[in-house]
Amino acid sequence: MLRPANSPFQWRVRGVRRYIRMENKKENMETMRAYKFRIYPDTKRQAAIDNSILMSQRLYNKLLEKTIEVHKSNPSSKISQRTVNRFLNEIIKEDKTYLQLYAHIRVDIRNRLLKTYQDFFRRCQQKRSGAKIKAGFPRYKSKDKFNSITHIENNGSFRIEKGRLRVSRIGTMRIEQHRNIVGNVKTMTIKREGREYYAIFTAEQIITPPKINDTNPVGIDMGLNNFIALSDGQAIQKPKFLKKREKRIARWQRIVARRQKGSNRRDKAKFRLHEEWKGVTNQSNDFVHKLSDKLVSGGFTSFAVEALHIDNMLKNHRLAQSIHNASWNRFIQMLSYKAESAGMKVIKVDPRDTSKECSNCDNIQDMPLSVREYNCGRCGMRLDRDINASINILKRATLGQRGSHAQGEIVRPQQEAAFKELRTYPANAGEANDL
Ligand SMILES: [Zn+2]
Repeated sequence: MLRPANSPFQWRVRGVRRYIRMENKKENMETMRAYKFRIYPDTKRQAAIDNSILMSQRLYNKLLEKTIEVHKSNPSSKISQRTVNRFLNEIIKEDKTYLQLYAHIRVDIRNRLLKTYQDFFRRCQQKRSGAKIKAGFPRYKSKDKFNSITHIENNGSFRIEKGRLRVSRIGTMRIEQHRNIVGNVKTMTIKREGREYYAIFTAEQIITPPKINDTNPVGIDMGLNNFIALSDGQAIQKPKFLKKREKRIARWQRIVARRQKGSNRRDKAKFRLHEEWKGVTNQSNDFVHKLSDKLVSGGFTSFAVEALHIDNMLKNHRLAQSIHNASWNRFIQMLSYKAESAGMKVIKVDPRDTSKECSNCDNIQDMPLSVREYNCGRCGMRLDRDINASINILKRATLGQRGSHAQGEIVRPQQEAAFKELRTYPANAGEANDL
């Protein structure tokens, strides 16, 4: 729970923790986790939150405007923290109302802007070295896109007391805290989602994961036919709710596009669309929570997954695929923190050609999306395409990328035997396990 952060007690605890962290660097692991709770501000507090968000949006856009001028006059100069700080002071001097914003929120706005520039310059660099991506210059944020404010430090400006959240300059409101926060609270964000408000806390916890012998690693393919396929032959199907939701979301997207901008009816449709998104996010979070729990407690000792290219994935405009990508991402995130807290590694491998390669003889052949079974033209192996890919993923993790023995390990003999079994009985592989 949140302690009054300015008390000497808090400082002493923090000091001790820092000391422990330095002493036991090897055994201990810092984990950062987010906790999201619904909050119920009354009309007055709602107005205060909305006003803070609105002022933050304006401040962000004003800062952006000033940095764009600098960038225009000298495109090669990087936008530094010092420059943005100077602009921040200028803007406040011109318009004192920005002083109503809590100081740390202003610092957070500056950080957000610096982050978008950093990302922009990084993509420019990648582009210069040949990557086929758009650099994407930082953009002005509309009211729809700017919907949160963050207190970047737990310094007493917010706290939970007896089921109520108190935030300085906003007031107190009921909070639905459905679980306890474990660890040291670092930041708090108030977020508006449609007509609802949430408080998101990040907390740092220092844990000592147990030491585990890596005797039973498993490869996971983010499948085409399945949600995931495992190198031990299990396949977990795509949840049915995803399909149903996809249709409804597509419908509301069309309705929003059709209705007149600024109209009441369009706002209503946007609200319905938002509700559908929220529904699919909740359901898919629940699904990947259960799935990652099952895997971490399933007797495996490490996990090999594909390194997915998020930059490319986000550009996918096909709705079904984008919903799917989002749940894959969450799945990998959850699996990673759960596995790592339990002392197991999650190894990310090069995803190139994992479905085109034969897991038995390394032959590479074309695998059109419609082909569900890998039928090797060289060695004659037959196996479900996703299971074949998952074995390749496991091999890459244990042999090192592209067989270079980078990790100094080989696939264990008993696993090779298990693969053989899968291959000789390809009918097993297609069986789907429901959660
Ligand atoms: Zn083969």
